[in-house]
Amino acid sequence: MHELSVAQNIIEIIQQSVPERSWNLVRAVRVELGAMAGIVPDSLKFSFEAITEESAFRGTQLIIECIPFRIHCCSCSADTENEDGFAVCGECGSTEVKILTGTELRIKNIELEETAEVS
Ligand SMILES: [Zn+2]
Repeated sequence: MHELSVAQNIIEIIQQSVPERSWNLVRAVRVELGAMAGIVPDSLKFSFEAITEESAFRGTQLIIECIPFRIHCCSCSADTENEDGFAVCGECGSTEVKILTGTELRIKNIELEETAEVS
């Protein structure tokens, strides 16, 4: 399952960003997930919980922010969104578009207990 390796990846990034003595203080990790990134949010959450269950990150919440698929049209300059991932302008139908958002998967921030925050 693809989501499992992505979840593992997220944990590795937390491990690299947060000093080991603070691992049990990680309360939540917030990720931005593009609608067309090919990841099912629920599966990712499930995988994350399964992996963290027996680790220092037990109880860490995975917060997923869904980013819409958004394109910029090079013909009419309109920015449009669609839910199907079609690289076609919603205004004029041109296919000369640039993908703005919707394919990303990145960690936005890692929240620790108390006020400490690592980004
Ligand atoms: Zn257009």
